[in-house]
Amino acid sequence: MRKGGLGQLVGILLLIGLVLMIVKWALITIAILAVPFGIWFVYDRVSAAKKRAAEQDAVQGAADRRREIESLAVVDAAGGCGWCGSRLAHRDRLGMLVGPADFHRAEIEDAVRR
Ligand SMILES: [Zn+2]
Repeated sequence: MRKGGLGQLVGILLLIGLVLMIVKWALITIAILAVPFGIWFVYDRVSAAKKRAAEQDAVQGAADRRREIESLAVVDAAGGCGWCGSRLAHRDRLGMLVGPADFHRAEIEDAVRR
């Protein structure tokens, strides 16, 4: 009876040891995996934020550039064309007066794209 009890105790201790080993292994595995996944997670968040900011900047930059270029195609202080410097008002094919921005539309679009 005494010997059987000892065998049972050893069996329980072995079982506890095995469970502890498995728990320890799981914790170590989680700890090891947490580092690269944590780094990846942070990197992903940062690069996504950077990408969004860059896209925003590109859109904003294009809008700024267009506004800056179009601001050149206005009637200047001397009454001439701010785009080509002509002292004479621009007229379309029908002889109607047109603003510098409309007259030079194709060149402005060309300059914006460049
Ligand atoms: Zn002009």
